[in-house]
Amino acid sequence: MSFYSTKIIATLGPSSSNKKTIKRMIESGVNAVRINTAHGSTKEYSNFVSIVRSVSKEIPIIVDLKGPEVRVKTNSEVRVKKGQKITVGFSPKDEIYFDKNFYQKAKLGGKILFEDARFPAKIVSKNKGKLKLKFLRNSVLQNNKGVNIPGLELGLPFLSQKDLQVIKWAKKKKILFYALSFCRSAIDLKKLRKKTGKDSVLIAKIESREGVKNYQKILGEAEGIIIARGDLGAEVRPESIPLLQKRMVKQALNSGKFSVVATQMLESMIEKPYPTRAEVSDIANSVLDGADCLMLSGETAIGINPVAVVKEMRRSCEAVEESVPNMVAMKLGNNVSDSITKTIFQLSKYLKVNKIVAFTKSGYTCQMISRFREPIPIIGLTWSERTLKLLQLYFGVAPLLLNKNQNMDSKKIISLIKKKKLLKKNDSVIITGNKSGQEQQSNLIEVQKIN
Ligand code: PGA
Ligand code: MN
Repeated sequence: MSFYSTKIIATLGPSSSNKKTIKRMIESGVNAVRINTAHGSTKEYSNFVSIVRSVSKEIPIIVDLKGPEVRVKTNSEVRVKKGQKITVGFSPKDEIYFDKNFYQKAKLGGKILFEDARFPAKIVSKNKGKLKLKFLRNSVLQNNKGVNIPGLELGLPFLSQKDLQVIKWAKKKKILFYALSFCRSAIDLKKLRKKTGKDSVLIAKIESREGVKNYQKILGEAEGIIIARGDLGAEVRPESIPLLQKRMVKQALNSGKFSVVATQMLESMIEKPYPTRAEVSDIANSVLDGADCLMLSGETAIGINPVAVVKEMRRSCEAVEESVPNMVAMKLGNNVSDSITKTIFQLSKYLKVNKIVAFTKSGYTCQMISRFREPIPIIGLTWSERTLKLLQLYFGVAPLLLNKNQNMDSKKIISLIKKKKLLKKNDSVIITGNKSGQEQQSNLIEVQKIN
């Protein structure tokens, strides 16, 4: 079994829609895959699911729902000159139209940004359910490209008709992981969980001002978050992203939730065989900020060499992941899990422990230990398949599934882990877990030398 500290999520697409590529991507260090439902049909998604499952039963498959995302629809590419005005409607009968209706909320003088804010336009008039837009640059409008209306709370339904169909399909495929694009509030997530099931793992994509504003509450309801820098950079100024990223990653870490940094991480490799220095630095800095996972988008979906991209990202992570600082305040208090895991962290340094073995039902114990970013593997043992998958997304955790009837007998467990090559002779380990009988309460510390 190979072990990786930083977890990599790869988006699937035309470049990675065959078994050979997916297998090699996983062997090169991909820990989870994402199906972006902005494109394609459930038939195509089914194909991805069956290929991924034929390679790995354990890897999480994340279905990315588009939520209240707005896209522009046009039959043919439209070229617009700077200063030119065009009319955009909200109905398939219109030549060019938005796929979500925000006519009522649209404000005269307000901005509408096309394709990652590359093509900005201003609303100059509103008439009979259509908007007249004046373009501020020479622009090209292409079908199904993303649109941002910064700062405006559009009041759109939190899921589209297509999202509802996708959820129906995903439940049949026993999908557990859902990402919600343009997540605005904890309420959106609560409603989503009602539809996807209480066991589902919900990842909130933070990519609007509303999402940033409600971030702390969103963290309370989500299992993890994605800092979706593509759309976020259009909704807030791009130069705000570095500090927002640091703040949100740190907050997630201290709330025991996993965080994912996403978008343009190796953008140049969509077309080129090597990364830029700036991209390698961005990956390293995201790991140093305390991100659990990094996400690849177009690089693995439509890029020339998805496997090379994964290897490059893996290398860039490994160069820095032993240098991530501890960002947790170390004061002990009356919360048992908090104090036990802080003690484990201290002990492991004094006793020169080189692995931690943690029994976990919900994943909580592993999360609590992972947050210190200690450069030693945390072997997460669980009986639950859901937890097994969840642990794939925590920094520093190597998950292992136990048989239902395996108990906590240390000797047997250690020989099992040795068989998986995650422990070896002379390793010094701390074993921890929950013998309290209460949920989310790690209360065990055992120190052992492996012989
Ligand atoms: P997307 O989300 O790739 O689904 O648009 C990521 C982002 O906006 O950065
Ligand atoms: Mn997005």
